[in-house]
Amino acid sequence: MNEIVSLTLHELGQRLRARELSAEEAARAYLARIAETEGKVHAYLSVLEKEALEAARAADRRLKAGENGSPLLGVPVAVKDLLCMEGTRTTCGSRILGGFTAPYDATAVALLKKAGAVILGKLNMDEFAMGSSTERSAFGPTRNPWNLEATPGGSSGGSAAAVAARSAAATLGSDTGGSIRQPAACCGVVGMKPTYGRVSRYGLIAFASSLDQIGPFARTVRDCAIVLAAVSGHDPRDSTSADEPVPGYAEDLDAGVKGMRIGIPREYFVEGTDPEVEAAVRAAIRVMEGLGARAEEVSLPHTEYALPVYYILAPAEASSNLARYDGVRYGLREEGESEYGPLFGMYAASREAGFGEEVKRRIMLGTYALSSGYYDAYYTKAQRVRTLVSRDFQAAFRKADVILSATAPTAAFRLGERMADPLSMYLSDILTIPCNLAGLPGISVPCGLTSARLPIGLQIVGRPFGEREVLRAAAAFEGATAHHRALPPL
Ligand code: GLN
Repeated sequence: MNEIVSLTLHELGQRLRARELSAEEAARAYLARIAETEGKVHAYLSVLEKEALEAARAADRRLKAGENGSPLLGVPVAVKDLLCMEGTRTTCGSRILGGFTAPYDATAVALLKKAGAVILGKLNMDEFAMGSSTERSAFGPTRNPWNLEATPGGSSGGSAAAVAARSAAATLGSDTGGSIRQPAACCGVVGMKPTYGRVSRYGLIAFASSLDQIGPFARTVRDCAIVLAAVSGHDPRDSTSADEPVPGYAEDLDAGVKGMRIGIPREYFVEGTDPEVEAAVRAAIRVMEGLGARAEEVSLPHTEYALPVYYILAPAEASSNLARYDGVRYGLREEGESEYGPLFGMYAASREAGFGEEVKRRIMLGTYALSSGYYDAYYTKAQRVRTLVSRDFQAAFRKADVILSATAPTAAFRLGERMADPLSMYLSDILTIPCNLAGLPGISVPCGLTSARLPIGLQIVGRPFGEREVLRAAAAFEGATAHHRALPPL
């Protein structure tokens, strides 16, 4: 591994601004690292070498002109392939978007470019972000840099694996039910889902619009805060984007956790939790107490309903969002016949060929839940229970400033292990989904390794727009431990 790619994003930015290193050298170092690791990891769906080198040279011109205000200027990053980036192939991990080239930049991508970041490429994911292992990608799975026989988690598995493999300084992913935090945990990196509405969803290919959020993956909490600050903010092109000021997320990271109240949800040491994961989380709680935080048990009584509620609401929203893929305006088109004529035949044949098994399952579940006669029994009821899940958190946050738990009940699982049983796959997200239902910010930070040397993630959840407290707690934990420094054997 070359020296440049072993620097954190913060360190690399400092070197670039001190002009000890050029953005072009940094981009070339990362492109070389991609060439070295991709044969094993397959984190990227496309590598944008030409565009990256051009962006790097533009960053060098800004650096040379003395610009030093942006911590991302000249820094090589990459984004999940459900973010539109003008002129690039954007697949969402699906065959149905075959041949689609994004005509514009997603707001998060535009903000990265404006900050001077160099975008190296687009990252692998489960098709339409439906999955927890990246095995549902139509373009083959990503492998976990810690163990190539294990999945990197998902659906943002490419985003997590690229950071772990040092083939990007930081990445963006999306989290609808855990798709940033769970792969971050599996790959031993930091990953954060911000508050719903914190980062604009404009140009993010929709899965479940009331849950989807974009967020960063990075090697340290500071790096994560830097990227979050760059992509956050109000956007008139996303009607659910929050008109809340963006605080300096990287500014008070070192303030510590003295007196911070840490809630430990009684319901979160769920059945099926690996004892090694539980031990690592309990050790993390002791670390936080040692730093002056006060741990207290809290209760989130509706936790057991979060997963069933999610698997009504997310497929319902998906069935509506995915209705646009009909072969007419973009993506894959297959001709076909049907009893209603060739137009319906074309719709059916395009969808049959373009969507994978899991996406079809979700569309059917969602269409059923929304169908007349079942709407109230499923969809309306699930919405009501979603409110109860949110209220659990509101009550818990009267006693606690942040909530701590494992990110996932187990470490990374083997490729293929959960593919035959959707429910076992869905259970990977049992500890992350409640936070999406309630719209809360949550982070996963490395908190140890299992005896099989696979990373374990600690989840820290905060109040709405409480990103600073979450980051501060995560930074305190990271500062007191060495888990984030462990390197995958790749
Ligand atoms: N694994 C969950 C699902 O399959 C969450 C996915 C996500 O957050 N995008 O729906």
